Amino acid sequence: MADPAAETTINVVCRFRPLNSSEVARGDKYIPKFQGEDCVLIAGKPYHFDRVFQSDTTQVQFYNAVAQKIVRDVLGGYNGTIFAYGQTASGKTHTMEGKLHDSDMMGVIPRIVDDIFNYIYSMDENLEFHIKVSYFEIYLDKIKDLLDVSKVNLSVHEDKNRVPYVKGCTERFVSSPEEVMDAIDEGKNSRHVAVTNMNEHSSRSHSIFLINIKQENSQTGQKLTGKLYLVDLAGSEKVGKTGAEGTVLDEAKMINKSLSSLGNVISALSEGSGYVPYRDSKMTRILQDSLGGNCRTTMVICCSPSAFNDAETRSTLMFGQRAKTIKNTVSLNVELTAEQWKKKWEKENEKNKTLKNTVTWLEAELNRWRSGESVPVEDQFDKEKAQAEVQALDSALNNDKTAPAPALTPLPGVKLTEAETKQYGAEMAKLYKEMDDKDDEINQQSQLLESLKQQMLDQEELLSSSRQDHDTLQTELSRLLSENEASKEEVKEVLQALEELAVNYDQKSQEVEDKAQEFEALSEELNEKSSSLASIDCELQKLKEMTNHQKKRVTEMMSSLLKDLAEIGIALGSNDIKVTTRSSGLVDEEFTVARLYISKMKSEVKAMVKHSKQLESSRSESTQKIEATEMELIALQLRVSQHEAKIKSLTDSLQNVEQKKRQLEETVDSLNEEIVRIKAQEKVNTLEKDNEIQSANEIKDAVEKQIQSHREIHQKQIGSLRDELDHKEKLMTELQDLNQKIVLEQERLRVEHEKLKAADQEKNSRYICRYVELHARELQTLHNLRRLFVKDLTTRVKKSAHMDSDDAESTTMQKQKICFLESNLEQLTKAHKQLLRDNADLRSELPKLEKRLRATAERVKALEAALREAKENAAIDRKRYDQEMERIKDAVKPKNTGRRASIAKPIRPGQLPGASPINTSVNRSNLIQNNQPAGIKGGGNSR
Ligand code: ADP
Ligand code: MG
Repeated sequence: MADPAAETTINVVCRFRPLNSSEVARGDKYIPKFQGEDCVLIAGKPYHFDRVFQSDTTQVQFYNAVAQKIVRDVLGGYNGTIFAYGQTASGKTHTMEGKLHDSDMMGVIPRIVDDIFNYIYSMDENLEFHIKVSYFEIYLDKIKDLLDVSKVNLSVHEDKNRVPYVKGCTERFVSSPEEVMDAIDEGKNSRHVAVTNMNEHSSRSHSIFLINIKQENSQTGQKLTGKLYLVDLAGSEKVGKTGAEGTVLDEAKMINKSLSSLGNVISALSEGSGYVPYRDSKMTRILQDSLGGNCRTTMVICCSPSAFNDAETRSTLMFGQRAKTIKNTVSLNVELTAEQWKKKWEKENEKNKTLKNTVTWLEAELNRWRSGESVPVEDQFDKEKAQAEVQALDSALNNDKTAPAPALTPLPGVKLTEAETKQYGAEMAKLYKEMDDKDDEINQQSQLLESLKQQMLDQEELLSSSRQDHDTLQTELSRLLSENEASKEEVKEVLQALEELAVNYDQKSQEVEDKAQEFEALSEELNEKSSSLASIDCELQKLKEMTNHQKKRVTEMMSSLLKDLAEIGIALGSNDIKVTTRSSGLVDEEFTVARLYISKMKSEVKAMVKHSKQLESSRSESTQKIEATEMELIALQLRVSQHEAKIKSLTDSLQNVEQKKRQLEETVDSLNEEIVRIKAQEKVNTLEKDNEIQSANEIKDAVEKQIQSHREIHQKQIGSLRDELDHKEKLMTELQDLNQKIVLEQERLRVEHEKLKAADQEKNSRYICRYVELHARELQTLHNLRRLFVKDLTTRVKKSAHMDSDDAESTTMQKQKICFLESNLEQLTKAHKQLLRDNADLRSELPKLEKRLRATAERVKALEAALREAKENAAIDRKRYDQEMERIKDAVKPKNTGRRASIAKPIRPGQLPGASPINTSVNRSNLIQNNQPAGIKGGGNSR
């Protein structure tokens, strides 16, 4: 080597953190007392280190004092290691990492990274660097790559220089501090992701950040390598048997193992014992070079200052003291150039010669000893003498090319031949190799064991869960069976109830039909009555016309009578003197004429009175008839309304029945489904019993899925049917509302009609009364006239008898009479005029009334037509509804039976595992899945 190997001790520094807030709050005592820069006193006992850092040391101070020089070592081709040792929360991570992106609080690692690059930038231009980093953690003696989470259990191998390394660990080439920090961030992230309790995890795992630097001088061709391990160890406190929550004893042992083997290694090294148990743990193996090997190692002993952690602090300090005694032999990691190799070979050759000489000397001495000779002291082997001899020999045979091959140093007292030595070396190498292989194998086996254990756990879980499932299924089955029985009973009952309901429904529909027929009949009757009312109205009209006619006749008669009277008056006036002069025969003639007239008048008056009486009786009759008809009409309408109410209630009840029916159908459906499911489960269970739990489960799933799908379809159908039904019902209620409205309108119109009729009647009666009154008055006047006339005539006749004796007197009398008659006539004309006026009034009123009557009749007709139409519509709707109901009933009935069939389908024996091609493929694929080898992890979970 170009540089002689230098022996150095491990650099051990101690760092106390300040009391943390909870310790302050608790009033913990601050126990360390510092003496100088390298000594700390705990309870009076001094502990010496290379440096002791008090609690107020800043990150940069610590770095400058401890870690900075390591950068130069590593870049100079030496290996370096910084350990942080101490109990949990003593400041290891704070020291190694700190706050990674905080320039004040960042710890050793980010500062080293920065420094490495800064140093490189300031170095010789001819140097070329290759920097790669690795980041892994060791937990339960398993190496997990933090830069590739898929690498979870890496193994440790030795390279050709017998230096251990983590095989297969990700090595990331980096060219800037940012890239290194990215790698650290990534590693920390993947550390966080995998665990639930990061604090616990980090206190039990070692995290190791490795920076590997290779440099090559392009001028001299010299190559140097330096490895820097930055190790944040697990908490140094022992994990008790029950200390680790959720871990079994084995795990607690494993957690302690790597640290305790670190302790053992350090003890062995400090005691200088021949055997160092590096191979006890992966951690010690990886750091073999850092502990007693070719490495500049710094150990940071992190301590809590609290009196509470007194014991831990002391043991930590003791550990540091022990570690301080470890000696490392540091040498430059250099790849030699050809020249250097040659020099080295020559040197080695020289060494070899000395050794060979020693060997021959010793062999000779040994032989002598063995042959029983005693070798005198001066003949015995002496190192210095031998060396001197070799040198002498060397100078004598300077260019002796026949120097034998170098041999390994044999153990004292054991004579080994060259071949044996070779063999021994080869064997050693082979054995180491084997050991590594075994290590590998052990790793693999442990991985396999782990996975198998996991699988076993999974399987056990699965088994117990399936057992539980089985039990629950069994109980469920029995429950379902009993339920099935009950359901069957229930179904029977429901079916019976359904039948009853159907019968009921039929009865109700029959009743509805009857009622509708009755309604129809009543409507017809109403129509008839209305027509009869119309005919009566007609009759009334006729009667009115007749009265008019009679009136006309009476007026005519009256006028003729008045004419006659006037003529008589004239005749009487003109013939007064004549009468006296003429013969008494002419008077008689005139008297007879008058009598005839009077009798004629009398008969006519009688006929008139008779006729008026007749008219009156017919009027009263017609009024009676009208009244009766109206009564009937009212009764009919009442009946109609009753019937309508009845129809309404019937429809309501019909709806109720329908709803009930639907509910019952639903229950029947659900019960049917349940039966089918139970049957399916029975089948599944029998299959399960045949140890085909999985396939049974699959089948069950499939069956249930099918049932589910059937149920869904069925429910969809039912839903659509129900929607339709609802729609129809809505339509029906709308129509009924319309009907109701029409009926109400009719009622209103009827009332109006009645009112009009009453008014009409009143008017009629008034008119008739007036007419009769007038008639009576006229008759009275006629009577009076007659009487007067008769009186006049008798007086005249009497006077005519005395005429001869008293002529002058008679003339005045006659004149008086004429006056009287004239006044009478005037009165009569007045009465006549009044009558005529009244008549005219009545006539003018008559067309109005007629018009009104006609309008009313038309209205009645229209209303009747509307009613009829509404009834027809209602009948049509009813019919439609009935048809719809029938259709739905029909649809539901076959669906019930059809549904049963469709649910039962999947559990038909022919269709079970693989009757239909789809099922076959599905089941087969499931079976294939289930038969996958147990080695595939998670196969059990997927079930
Ligand atoms: P460990 O890694 O040993 O379990 P940490 O480094 O996580 O402990 O430290 C525990 C706590 O104490 C952290 O909050 C850290 O910031 C704090 N701490 C540790 N050392 C110091 C120190 N020298 N100065 C200030 N705070 C510190
Ligand atoms: Mg930590």
